[in-house]
Amino acid sequence: MKRLGLYVHIPFCAKKCNYCDFYSLACGEDEKKAYIEALKREIREVSKNVNDEYRVYTIYFGGGTPSIIKAYYIKEILDEIRSHFKLYEDDFFPEITIECNPRTVDIEKLLVYKEAGINRISLGLQSTNDDELRLLGRIHTYEDFLDSYAMVRKSGFTNVNIDLMSAIPNQKISTYERSLDELIKLNPEHISSYSLIIEEGTNFYQKYAENAPLVMDLPSEDEDRAMYELTSFRLAEAGYKRYEISNYAKKGYHSRHNTSYWERVPYLGFGVGASSLFENERYDNVGNLKEYIKNAGISDVRRNITKLSLRDEMSEFMFLGLRLIDGISKQVFTKIFTFTVDEIFGDVVKKHINNELLIDNGDFLKLSDRGLDISNYVLSDFLLD
Ligand code: SF4
Repeated sequence: MKRLGLYVHIPFCAKKCNYCDFYSLACGEDEKKAYIEALKREIREVSKNVNDEYRVYTIYFGGGTPSIIKAYYIKEILDEIRSHFKLYEDDFFPEITIECNPRTVDIEKLLVYKEAGINRISLGLQSTNDDELRLLGRIHTYEDFLDSYAMVRKSGFTNVNIDLMSAIPNQKISTYERSLDELIKLNPEHISSYSLIIEEGTNFYQKYAENAPLVMDLPSEDEDRAMYELTSFRLAEAGYKRYEISNYAKKGYHSRHNTSYWERVPYLGFGVGASSLFENERYDNVGNLKEYIKNAGISDVRRNITKLSLRDEMSEFMFLGLRLIDGISKQVFTKIFTFTVDEIFGDVVKKHINNELLIDNGDFLKLSDRGLDISNYVLSDFLLD
């Protein structure tokens, strides 16, 4: 039996957040309906290339805002998946997650999700401070979030993630600390915490670049670092285990889906712009909505197909696996690739151990606390030419 993850991309949002560089757009009902039909065609068609050895053990509806579409569309997609793929069934699996944004969910929708088999909800909050939410261009207030969170709990969901953001323009350590404390009081099972990065192509980037009237007083490097340290300290105190650079969970509640990315479990992405790793190939779907709707399930919508070499695979194993706090198993590396970690990465490993950025405990190799702080620097060294 081989594990398989499925990702379903729902690209629709009420409006674009100022920091967003995902493929997302506002659309009418007709386009949404046509998109769901295209998704179902793609699921049917792609399933023909997946042999019986594979068992779907995670499904993730991401976006965009998956909760913005009618709930029965989500049910239809899950029905399509169940008809065409073999699912891994036990107490925890398949883990089926849907991303929801406040003001786009209600009890009726949540009950349809539950009925359809969804067992994990990921709620986008980012901040409990309304000024920060407004600046980010979110469509909701903290009060709206609290309403949605209460409905999620009332509908019986017991596995909930909340997204939090630090280093927001104008954010102070004190306002971030308040967000963190309020979040902890809500007691979600999982918290993802990311620092804002101003990416090219976003409204923020535009405003930043043009020096527009919007005051972009970004937290300093020291403040950013203080927020980062506060996150791991406070969450550890509250009983959350940090299991990946930006992810924290109560015991037993780590995201199986995201963990599978870091463990290089094969996954298939459905929908416009969705990425896949399957049978040693990485590819993205076409990134244009109209083109996707017209061709999905009819002609090949895959783009940028890259066959991974052995060196690519070894690199990925290291730089993805080292994102996990427990690190990578040297034995597993040798079992998969026949080489030892030292044979391939000996110099890099030695350098980072000497600099106290990596820890070798015999079986596992992992980032030290300082290594976690500057993980991008360490991980980029594992790219093989
Ligand atoms: S809700 Fe998410 S996907 Fe949609 S615009 Fe905002 S950040 Fe982007």
